[in-house]
Amino acid sequence: MNRQFAAATFGALIYFGCVIPLSAAEYEALRQKMVREVIAASGNSPPGASIVAAMEKVERHRFVPAWLSIFAYRNHPLPIGHGQTISQPLIVARMTELLKLKKDDKVLEIGTGSGYQAAVLAEIAKSVYTIEIIEPLANEAARRFQSLGYDNVKTRIGDGYYGWPEAAPFDAILVTAAASHVPPPLLKQLKPGGRMVVPLGAPFMTQYLMLVEKQPDGSVTTRQIVPVRFVPLRGGH
Ligand code: SAH
Repeated sequence: MNRQFAAATFGALIYFGCVIPLSAAEYEALRQKMVREVIAASGNSPPGASIVAAMEKVERHRFVPAWLSIFAYRNHPLPIGHGQTISQPLIVARMTELLKLKKDDKVLEIGTGSGYQAAVLAEIAKSVYTIEIIEPLANEAARRFQSLGYDNVKTRIGDGYYGWPEAAPFDAILVTAAASHVPPPLLKQLKPGGRMVVPLGAPFMTQYLMLVEKQPDGSVTTRQIVPVRFVPLRGGH
């Protein structure tokens, strides 16, 4: 069967709504393969054991629209509606690795989206606070956390630029939308000795993943890690 024919057949199956879902064992095999691909693509910054275990466990196919679930274990971003995307697994691994999480950590995520990254964080850290500005995405993610039993994840609808002051300070902060600058409220809510990972850059221009470290004495160091492409951080700031 040539590729075009396969693609056309597949498209027709999707169109007529008769895609047969894969079995749990098939998803599991694809998930293992995705994690191996992520490790291979990580080069000399491979994800640690706790991240590998988390990504082997979290069922990414439950975080994408049903019609895309068969593509969930490709190392690609995918659309999740409202013009937003679930991040590429390689980037999820890289950002999580940069946070150097410990199991007692309290983590803040800005940009819940599908909830996949928050679920990976929740497998490793003690608690995750995640903020999403688009209400239907936030509600959908909250339902997912509940049905998948992630009771250590707390969700909020709002502009994550301002963080979650009542729950601060955080051991680690992860921003999953591109900002033009490090949001000062987030820096304030980071514990001394804590780490923040944030993509910086203008929308549709080259953005860089930045590692921001607050030293125990309160001083801040910033390091540019890799070029990335994220949807812009929205909001009124
Ligand atoms: N972490 C997500 C992917 C994030 S895509 C996942 O694992 O699926 C970026 C998300 O950030 C989008 O859902 C977008 O709506 C959200 N976002 C953008 N600006 C925001 C803001 N100011 N506050 C909170 N969320 C924001």
